Amino acid sequence: MLDRNEVIRSDTEFISSARRAPETRFVVYSGPRALLKPALPITPKDMDGQQLASLGLDPAEAVFLGLSGQTPWFAVDIASASDEIQTSCAADGRFETLAAIQDPIAGDAWSVLAQARALLAWNAAAKYCSCCGALTEMLSAGYQRSCTDTSCGALHFPRTDPAVIVRVTNGDRCLLARQPSFPPGLQSVLAGFAEPGETLEETVVREIKEEVGLRVGDPVYIASQAWPFPTSMMIAFSVEAAEETIRIDGREIEAADWYTREEIRQRMSDGSLVLPSVKSIARRLIDDWLDNL
Ligand SMILES: [Zn+2]
Repeated sequence: MLDRNEVIRSDTEFISSARRAPETRFVVYSGPRALLKPALPITPKDMDGQQLASLGLDPAEAVFLGLSGQTPWFAVDIASASDEIQTSCAADGRFETLAAIQDPIAGDAWSVLAQARALLAWNAAAKYCSCCGALTEMLSAGYQRSCTDTSCGALHFPRTDPAVIVRVTNGDRCLLARQPSFPPGLQSVLAGFAEPGETLEETVVREIKEEVGLRVGDPVYIASQAWPFPTSMMIAFSVEAAEETIRIDGREIEAADWYTREEIRQRMSDGSLVLPSVKSIARRLIDDWLDNL
């Protein structure tokens, strides 16, 4: 796990020289696609400063991720580099979006890739001030941007959008549901964004009521996962339903039903049910329940 070191990221002299230091490591993105090593489990195919310089890549806009021991780690977006340079970067590696990854990812690797994606995406999207429309400039090595129009001077910060993800059970059965956008066979637990003014517990109760028409008991917090598509935070809960009859909304949810552990295992083995990828907290919620955890 990197030491994010909020103090160092504001030290412009340190950040400026670290961006040019040969030992500094860079996580590389091309737009939404991360440069990954070919081997499993998935890890970023990072580069050092010399490799970056030899490809003619400029780290001036690289965002600071943190320190590993004394080694600074940054992330750089090379989307504007030539096809030739991007092909050179991908030698012995591959570019892939985090969303497309189906293979296991170590927690540390996910953390670095998610941090890099969220920060790079925000800096790319926040180039203009949302208050006055003037250009913004990067501060704190990518954790702030400030408006360049001195009469405005607004400061902007990266956002994280909280969403709940919920395992609903009814005795020895678990609710699985399908959104219309899901690939064939995929079913998952329920999820939805928190709205302004809501507690996360209220979001859980509202989302379940809206999507499958169920009243539930008190939500129990399980864990959370950064979900950089591009800026979400999935906050996982479990909850016991107070009633059985499912009434789907037909809009966000096109099908939902209760399943026993045996039914889920049977349908997975005959291929009629696909669960979310193993990288997701949605899958952990389901797997933990299957294992009686
Ligand atoms: Zn402004």
